[in-house]
Amino acid sequence: MASFTALDHPLAGDLLTRLRDRDTGPAAYRELTRRLGLLLVAEATRDLATEPAKVDTPLEPFEGTRIAKGLVAIPVLRAGLGLLEAVTDLYPDAVVGYLGMERDEETHEPRDYYAKLPPMAGRRALVVDPMLATGGSGSAAVGYVKDAGADDITFVCVVAAPEGLARLRDDHPDVPVVAAALDRELNANAYIVPGLGDFGDRLYGTL
Ligand code: URA
Repeated sequence: MASFTALDHPLAGDLLTRLRDRDTGPAAYRELTRRLGLLLVAEATRDLATEPAKVDTPLEPFEGTRIAKGLVAIPVLRAGLGLLEAVTDLYPDAVVGYLGMERDEETHEPRDYYAKLPPMAGRRALVVDPMLATGGSGSAAVGYVKDAGADDITFVCVVAAPEGLARLRDDHPDVPVVAAALDRELNANAYIVPGLGDFGDRLYGTL
């Protein structure tokens, strides 16, 4: 069973509380999401492979490390876009794939409506989707990324519901999940509670 990590950090708690606040508008929302994303991405890459790297400081030779394995960021459209800059800020060499998922009106199953993924062999893929609610689209997104060749995937979200986490772990036991919080439950409309509402709407002001 893959790991689940909820950030345990005062800065993350502060940022998430501001995101939950119904009075936080889109401009602040985007900035808070980007900053919380930095903490999430740092956690999701904590075990990234490194290799030795020799440099000369102004004083003497130094044997340090550098990242051995590159990163692919895959934001799930559209809310995942809010976390993309956090990946490229921390690791500007990251390559980026876009994945659009929507619910099929007839089957109610999630399906991809847009995908443009870079080569993923030898890289860690970070699938970023802020709300892991039922886990339907999150699990489908991870499945799509696996089918496209990724074999080292971490799922990064802001808030997870127990139901979505269970679904993702059942479907993809090899994929670690990093979140800022694990909330109580889903309501009848599949919103996470206490949650923060519709992430994409709050991020883009489409309420
Ligand atoms: N998607 C959201 O944006 N919010 C939820 O609470 C659940 C799914």
